[in-house]
Amino acid sequence: MSSRKSFIKSATLSGMGVLLGSNLMAEPNKEDKKTKPTAIRKPLVLSTWRFGIQANEAAWAILGKGGKALDAVEAGVKIPEGDPKERSVGYGGRPDRDGRVTLDACIMDELGNIGSVAALEHIKHPISVARAVMEKTPHVMLVGDGALQFALEQGFPKENLLVEDSEKEWKEWLKKSEYKPIANIENHDTIGMIALDENGNLSGACTTSGMAYKMHGRVGDSPIIGAGLYVDNEIGAATATGHGEEVIRIVGCHLVVELMRQGKNPEDACKEAVARVVNLMKVRGKNLKDIQVGFIAINKQGEHGSYCVQSGFNYAICDGKSNVLVDSAYHSKV
Ligand code: ASP
Repeated sequence: MSSRKSFIKSATLSGMGVLLGSNLMAEPNKEDKKTKPTAIRKPLVLSTWRFGIQANEAAWAILGKGGKALDAVEAGVKIPEGDPKERSVGYGGRPDRDGRVTLDACIMDELGNIGSVAALEHIKHPISVARAVMEKTPHVMLVGDGALQFALEQGFPKENLLVEDSEKEWKEWLKKSEYKPIANIENHDTIGMIALDENGNLSGACTTSGMAYKMHGRVGDSPIIGAGLYVDNEIGAATATGHGEEVIRIVGCHLVVELMRQGKNPEDACKEAVARVVNLMKVRGKNLKDIQVGFIAINKQGEHGSYCVQSGFNYAICDGKSNVLVDSAYHSKV
């Protein structure tokens, strides 16, 4: 039961100052002239959900000029992070049940450098704090007050992230106080972005405000390296969205990358990871309809793919010729 990708939005990249046509790089085999050259599709950037289109544009402004995947993914995810109308990421994100906007983010580069923040309040761009953790501390993860303290020391401004609409909705929610995240309904979502640059290096970033009305202190998969994001520069990269608890349970993105190492193509690797999620739901007697999980992946050759539990998950692919939103293949139709 798998849908095929249907192209539902296409944005041309002309006028963005990008290097068109540089995405198909033939690498001739000098040893054996008869061997067909392997086409590596690069640069390339993928990101989750519809806000991925704009995020990809910002990433492409760097990738298209031969810039680093690490810089591209940070710049890309900062677009939805900074947009007060995006209610599941950064500024404008929905709060926890105590009315506090707490953010999770992580970043990983081609060398295996990692940085992460969880339950960070008052800072609009948690991805940049995660990068600062990676580059300026002896640690890989800071949480809560410690993460905020570090961010302020680094000069990030302290801001109120709870926008009026989110506050209104939260007050309405308090009347019943029912915690019921729904698959594909935007009371949660994450921007996960993975990129392959002109030099063939991979990096990824993942950032979210998590599940709306979560318990204060709840942390999802998005800031957890191996769960919400994983990059192995020899193999590929993967990132996740959806119910973080289910992604953490299978250490999803590390699994996807390991499956690619074993020879699976990106879509099949994502499909197998989704099968593990589905199986554990079944084993635990849980209703699959209550959750969504989606993975996207790129391998070192620039092949890419995705798979999700329920239909309805989409992601944006930008290769310099186009920037399109495609529907993910899925396990069940809703
Ligand atoms: N994965 C995020 C979390 O569990 C939410 C989402 O992507 O929908 O916090």
